[in-house]
Amino acid sequence: MIKFHPTPDLIEQFVTGTLAPAESLMVSAHCDMCKYCQELVDEKTAEFAMDHLELENVVESYDPQFDLMLANITQQPVAEAPDVSLRKSSGMDAQSTSIELDGKTFELPKTLHRLIQKKGNWSSLVGKLWQAPVDMGYDGVANFIYMEKGGSVPEHTHRGSEMTLVINGEFSDGMNEYDSGDFIYLNGEHTHAPASEAAEGCLVFSIVDQPLHFTSGIARLLNPFSHLFFR
Ligand SMILES: [Zn+2]
Repeated sequence: MIKFHPTPDLIEQFVTGTLAPAESLMVSAHCDMCKYCQELVDEKTAEFAMDHLELENVVESYDPQFDLMLANITQQPVAEAPDVSLRKSSGMDAQSTSIELDGKTFELPKTLHRLIQKKGNWSSLVGKLWQAPVDMGYDGVANFIYMEKGGSVPEHTHRGSEMTLVINGEFSDGMNEYDSGDFIYLNGEHTHAPASEAAEGCLVFSIVDQPLHFTSGIARLLNPFSHLFFR
């Protein structure tokens, strides 16, 4: 069951479009998994639209005739219409809604589907931990992180922020226990050591804006290199 949601403040900023792209992506992915927040977003969006927009300006649909006219004027080829339904029904997207690791298939929330193409290779890290970087194209580094049963991330704090969405499985970090769909937003005030004891392990999607800072034991030796992983 989902226990951790974006704050009302984050939801508000998400709706009004004032969130940074990385935060926006995370809130959206959480809403794919959380009916409660999705309803809240729908409500707030309706309110926001009533308050700030004239309805006739909102409807801005794709008009092929207009593109044709533009193409005639500019002598450029007509851009292809984005036909999402066609691509879906042709099955071309069939394998790009999930990622596979260690013989397991993980369905991703809709918002994250487009990142699958941008995912790098899995690499093995310390302690039954796997990481695949995602090229976000803007500031902030994203990773899919998979903890096998018994896997853990050394205790660390953050110079910036760390946003994590639990895609599948459970883990705990010494502060709380998290389950699929949970949205975790941490900053420099928090020190934690994520670990999973779930039989199926745990897959999370994580974005940090600064390298982690390891705080305990031998992992402290990793600090000079922490920009190389868990970034
Ligand atoms: Zn929620």
